[in-house]
Amino acid sequence: TRQAETHGFQTEVKQLLHLMIHSLYSNKEIFLRELVSNASDAADKLRFKALSDSSLLADDAELYVRVSADKDAGTITISDNGIGMTRDEVMTNLGTIAKSGTADFFSQLSGDQAKDSRLIGQFGVGFYSAFIVAETVTVRTRAAGASEAVEWFSRGEGEYELKDIEKVKRGTDIILKLRDDATEYLDEWRLKSIITKYSDHLSIPVQMPKRDDDNNKQEGWEAVNSGQALWTREKSEISDDEYKEFYKTVAHDFDEPLLWSHNKVEGTSEYTSLLYVPKRAPWDLWNRDNQHGIKLYVKRVFIMDDATQLMPTYLRFVRGLMDSADLPLNVSREILQDNKITRAMRNGSTKKILSMLSKLAKDDAEKYQEFWNTFGAVLKEGPAEDHANQETIAGLLRFASTHEDTSEAKVSLDAYIERMPEKQDKIYYIVADSYEAARDNPALEIFRKKGIEVLLLSERIDEWLMSHLTEYKEKPFQSVTRGDLDLGELDDAETKKEHEQAEKAFKKPLKRFEEALGDKVKSVRVTHRLTDSPACIVTDENDMSTQMAKLMEAAGQ
Ligand code: ADP
Ligand code: MG
Repeated sequence: TRQAETHGFQTEVKQLLHLMIHSLYSNKEIFLRELVSNASDAADKLRFKALSDSSLLADDAELYVRVSADKDAGTITISDNGIGMTRDEVMTNLGTIAKSGTADFFSQLSGDQAKDSRLIGQFGVGFYSAFIVAETVTVRTRAAGASEAVEWFSRGEGEYELKDIEKVKRGTDIILKLRDDATEYLDEWRLKSIITKYSDHLSIPVQMPKRDDDNNKQEGWEAVNSGQALWTREKSEISDDEYKEFYKTVAHDFDEPLLWSHNKVEGTSEYTSLLYVPKRAPWDLWNRDNQHGIKLYVKRVFIMDDATQLMPTYLRFVRGLMDSADLPLNVSREILQDNKITRAMRNGSTKKILSMLSKLAKDDAEKYQEFWNTFGAVLKEGPAEDHANQETIAGLLRFASTHEDTSEAKVSLDAYIERMPEKQDKIYYIVADSYEAARDNPALEIFRKKGIEVLLLSERIDEWLMSHLTEYKEKPFQSVTRGDLDLGELDDAETKKEHEQAEKAFKKPLKRFEEALGDKVKSVRVTHRLTDSPACIVTDENDMSTQMAKLMEAAGQ
């Protein structure tokens, strides 16, 4: 055995310790999350290594994390029987910061406490967060497969002590002597509530001393987390009922979900997502600021609810979670804002939801219609918000049309295109205040006569939608109330001749109309689009549509 040694911390560790203690005191409890998460990582690492060397597990194959408090000693202990550390590993892991980008991180620190604490969060506080609550920290560890063990001890100032010890079992014990202002953590109820808050879904059992109904300590330990996280299990091993039950917990819904999608993504970014589309709309669906959708986990540790950065606004009805293997545990909302990792998760999950909906539309039109009737108006925000997926979203839209005699939006753009006569090269639509107003608009007369289908749009959002949707599958959209409507190829030579003659004949009356109306109108033209009505009002291609003008007026513009 070697003599006890004293080592100095790497300068950056000293800086980090100082910063942490001074800027994270308002969020002390995270120390437990960090230490339990490290213990869980240690179990994961051992499990992985044991795949190729099962002797490492020896006769101690049930991996666990144990958390206990000793009121008399003023300590709490976090123990695991995971992979443990050798002396060298202790020195690198608990004496230096081995992360890439460390120098960069320290160069960004400004001394401004709020700003710095955010940066620390981004960097990840990890093991050293123990010193937020502890006056001294003792780590006793023995690496899997090794017989010698070491003890690391520090007051979190400039240095730590290292000595050889006897330790019967593999793994790591971390003993925190709490500061006077952190004695609340001696209460096991308090510890338990923190564990269930942050670590409930860790796959490893987190155990605390057993107590009976009268709160008397019993022999043995019991798990306080619910055990294996559903989303970490193999899809094939999870029943539909389990998915449905889990949805109710994660979405706080009494109803079952309409559909779900569970994905493990590997490659440049690594994450798991479990996403649900509810059956019914939440009460606050129309509040674009209220998104309670997606929970974020990092390595199965709960990070935050309502991670708005993980789903576009037009999919705000989606519920569920994403679990990243790449983000730091202490990730903050600010960091999520502009982050390659979150962007990849968001893009991937958006595609997943859209393809799941497309599949539903194909496989089960009735169920899709149910979805559309509930969330369609939200999805209509999509083409404006998400250019990359515009075509896919457009394929999911449903419209009322002159083909169906109902106000229910049932017609897809694909069905419309399917029915288009050979010479038709545009998708015709009209936007009005109501389904009836759209249906009865005189501008449709010529289309009815020629047997051309027109989409009838009448939701508030439709004008906005159509101003962003210019084409679908290379077919441009054309409003039938636009002035220069040209049915082009759809008119035959004879009709064209008739039109020319009519235009000549009406030259004089047109002039009189224009004089009478003055600057109330831009111009008065002959139209061939009416069959029963004598006249109608249209807008120029580049002017605001009548519907948009009404919307602007309603908004007080
Ligand atoms: P991170 O977990 O992000 O790597 P931490 O500061 O939390 O950073 O931990 C630093 C390192 O210390 C870990 O990567 C791990 O190698 C080691 N470590 C910490 N706690 C344990 C533990 N309970 N068992 C084994 N190794 C540990
Ligand atoms: Mg850690």
